[in-house]
Amino acid sequence: MQKKKPRILVTNDDGIHSPGIAALAEALREVGEVWIIAPDRERSAVSHSFTMNHPIRVHNLDERTFIMDGTPADCVMFGTRGFLENPPDLVASGINRGPNLGMDTVYSGTVAAAHEGHLHGLPAFAISMNVPAQGEAYRFDGAAKFAKILAQAIFSRHMPDGTFLNVNVPNLPWEQLRGVAVTRLGQRIYRDKIIKRMDPQGKEYYWIGGDSPTWVKAEGTDFHALEENKISVTPLGQDFTQFHAITELDRWDLSLDEK
Ligand code: MN
Repeated sequence: MQKKKPRILVTNDDGIHSPGIAALAEALREVGEVWIIAPDRERSAVSHSFTMNHPIRVHNLDERTFIMDGTPADCVMFGTRGFLENPPDLVASGINRGPNLGMDTVYSGTVAAAHEGHLHGLPAFAISMNVPAQGEAYRFDGAAKFAKILAQAIFSRHMPDGTFLNVNVPNLPWEQLRGVAVTRLGQRIYRDKIIKRMDPQGKEYYWIGGDSPTWVKAEGTDFHALEENKISVTPLGQDFTQFHAITELDRWDLSLDEK
């Protein structure tokens, strides 16, 4: 008897028109039945927000492709909470234009979509491309090929408990990739500034911008893997609790008795 094809929900935060989501969907069609629910426009850096103050419109592009005026987390919620007749067996988010390394993962809509899948008890991964060198374009083929390998591994090995995966891929031809490193999140050094400008009416407005971030150089991190032209796979989890701090905080004088 032929085994039932797994159902894979694909989304992103760059929006349905990004070539990254098309490359991811195409690669994963070799592993399972792909359903796409994606934002109808770019929603990068919306993190894990979901829509609660306006109704959400969904448009059907084809039998298994839907776009909506919602966030990446909304898309996954739709995919797992009854909009689709059958829930997916895997959530895949990307392929993002630009890396999601270190604390980028807090701001990232790409990572939040995988996180949302994980919150619904599903295996999930986010996949992002490093920025191309100057004068080069994004090449999604390597990341797409690796997404297929990873999805196959997830279905055959099962995801470790409490874990979803954050993947970053160097923007290189497949032959130049130096392998895969399982990593921890590194530390970004953001150099954002609030930039003040004037509009034609003489009123102030602002951009959050400034210089590109750098990172703390440390072996074993996602940043370091990319520097070595390796694909980085970081296991992430939901629990932000700092267990070592529980005992210390217990010793603080936080009694409700009046002093
Ligand atoms: Mn993005």
